[in-house]
Amino acid sequence: MLLKIYYYGHPVLRKRCEPISEITDEIRKLASDMIETMDKNDGIGLAAPQVGRSIRMFVLRNYIFTEEGHWTVSEPKVYINPKLSSPGTEMLSDTEGCLSLPGLRLHVLRPDKITVEAMDLDGKIFVEELEGYNARVRMHENDHINGVLFVDRIDVNARKKIDPLLKEMKKKYNP
Ligand SMILES: [Zn+2]
Repeated sequence: MLLKIYYYGHPVLRKRCEPISEITDEIRKLASDMIETMDKNDGIGLAAPQVGRSIRMFVLRNYIFTEEGHWTVSEPKVYINPKLSSPGTEMLSDTEGCLSLPGLRLHVLRPDKITVEAMDLDGKIFVEELEGYNARVRMHENDHINGVLFVDRIDVNARKKIDPLLKEMKKKYNP
C-alpha cells in the first residue's frame, strides 16, 4: 500500500521518535508499505516520520557498484531502533535530497564512515560498518527519527539562500 508522504513544515518531521518495543504485524506491514512508497517515489531511503509515524524505524537500499562497472541497488533493508556510532574522522560533502523536501538537492557535510547497530523485522540485532554514500544515507535517515532534516546541516549562508524556498514549500504542502 502506498503511504502518504509528510512534507517539510509538518510537525511530525520535527519530533524525536519513540523506540519500537515489539515487532508486531502492524510494524511488519508498515515496513513493507514504506519500502513500496520509497520505491514508487524513487527514493533510496525513507524514515517512519516521513509517513506520519513517530517511531524509530527506517528503510533503505544500498548503492552497489557492479563488476560490469555500473551502479545498482540492493534488496531493501529495514532498521528498527538503530544506533549510530564510530563516525569517521574525515568529513565528506555530497548532494542529498529528501522525499519530504521535493525538488531540493543540497551539499551536506557528513563523516565518511559510520557504524550502525539495529534490529531487523525478525528481531535480530545486526551491525554494519559503512562508508561513502551508503554511510550518508543511514545518517540522513537516522536524523529523521531524531527530528533533524538535512537542511539543518548546511552552513548558515546556504540556509539563508534557501529560506524563501523553504517558506514556500511549507505553505504549499501544508495548507
Ligand atoms: Zn529525508
